[in-house]
Amino acid sequence: MLDLTPEKHMDRTGVLINPCKTCQPVGALFAALGVRRCMPYSHGSQGCVSYHRTYLTRHFKEPAIACTSSFTEGACVFGGGPNIRQGAKNVFDIYDPDIIAVHTTCLSETIGDDLNTYIEEMDIPDGKYVIHCNTPSYVGSHVTGFANMMAGFIKYLAVKGKPTEQVALFPGFVNPGDIREYKHLLKRMKLKNIVFPDCSNVMDAPMTGEYKMYPDGGTTIEEIRALGSCRKVLALGRLTSEEPAAQLKRKCGVDFSLLPLPIGLADTDAFVMALAALNGGDVDAVIEEERGRLVDLMLDANPYYYGKKVAVYGDPDTVLGLTRFCLELGMIPSYVLTGTPGETFVRLADSMFKEYGRENECRAFAAKDLFDLHQLIKDAPVDLLLGNSHGKQIAKAEDIPLVRAGFPVLDRYGHPSLSIVGYRGAFALATKIADALMDAFDRNCADEDLDLVM
Ligand code: SF4
Repeated sequence: MLDLTPEKHMDRTGVLINPCKTCQPVGALFAALGVRRCMPYSHGSQGCVSYHRTYLTRHFKEPAIACTSSFTEGACVFGGGPNIRQGAKNVFDIYDPDIIAVHTTCLSETIGDDLNTYIEEMDIPDGKYVIHCNTPSYVGSHVTGFANMMAGFIKYLAVKGKPTEQVALFPGFVNPGDIREYKHLLKRMKLKNIVFPDCSNVMDAPMTGEYKMYPDGGTTIEEIRALGSCRKVLALGRLTSEEPAAQLKRKCGVDFSLLPLPIGLADTDAFVMALAALNGGDVDAVIEEERGRLVDLMLDANPYYYGKKVAVYGDPDTVLGLTRFCLELGMIPSYVLTGTPGETFVRLADSMFKEYGRENECRAFAAKDLFDLHQLIKDAPVDLLLGNSHGKQIAKAEDIPLVRAGFPVLDRYGHPSLSIVGYRGAFALATKIADALMDAFDRNCADEDLDLVM
């Protein structure tokens, strides 16, 4: 399928081929779905929101609800004020959400629609809310949109108050299964908490036979208001959660710690120690056991990981976490790539390569696409691909095993409910990586080398 990808690498600026990111509103819509009884609302044309919903639905295999201002030619010329006024009224009348979370699209950004004024002048029913954030897609990626929507909720709703015992957790751009793993760790560490946003039980709601437009999960409006009186924010994912955490600090003075996504051993250790610093220093015995099991697996399967070359690609924080885990396993992350722009990603990856003495064997790229990755792999192959479904054509063309992790996984089921964070998530991921490498060995080895016991 990708047999015509040339080996010779050419620098491109005008076009992306097989992009490794999608547009800001996809992330904004996803963040809004993590708020209870919230209707995401796209201020733009119908085509945009159809794409955003489809993209999320294909990953989560769950309906991703959203409404739209439904721009026509008139709105493009005269502005979308009348559309959003009528749209918000219709949404409250028909779908009865507690809150509407508006994000913009390229079109409404380009014509310069003033959402602050539109919302100020809106007739909002008592006890209901409308919030917004700007998500121009010619900047950043879906990850940026996710952060912008979080900051939008905080800007409109968080209220400064007397500090409580609660700790706020900003989860990063992760799956519902990952949120469940965070909650497991928080519970074991006996910390009262608010997870914001919380897509668990929304984007992986159980089948009950009854359709609920607003499933039971999600951060409540009250909890978002209470973020302003939390004693601390643990903001996970340096490149995703910093802006919302900074917004909360600016508005309500709540202090935050910025941590990497807890993927793998060292980054989960850092998360658990941050939790321990908040609960008086205790680490629950069950968590220690989970850690021990992970270390045991890493040692047992080490000969199969060690020295294997891997290409890691996807969202920046996820890729950084996966890269460190690969280094911990003794693998060589030859190519580490994200489509999201930002040199911080490259700087953080480079310093990680140095830390593990692999600076001459590994390279990191931001704002690149999977065509670039394919060309790099054609030039110097790898043993494994680790990332989202968009790498599957490369995997097929080059006969390289692919372990799916991150967003989106469009071509397999169940992934959103699984976890790659925490010790248990790392255990599951390390198992998948070893399986993929060992399956490839079994598939390709000579008959006399096909061992039953490995
Ligand atoms: S026009 Fe912009 S917001 Fe709409 S789908 Fe395309 S990139 Fe996304």
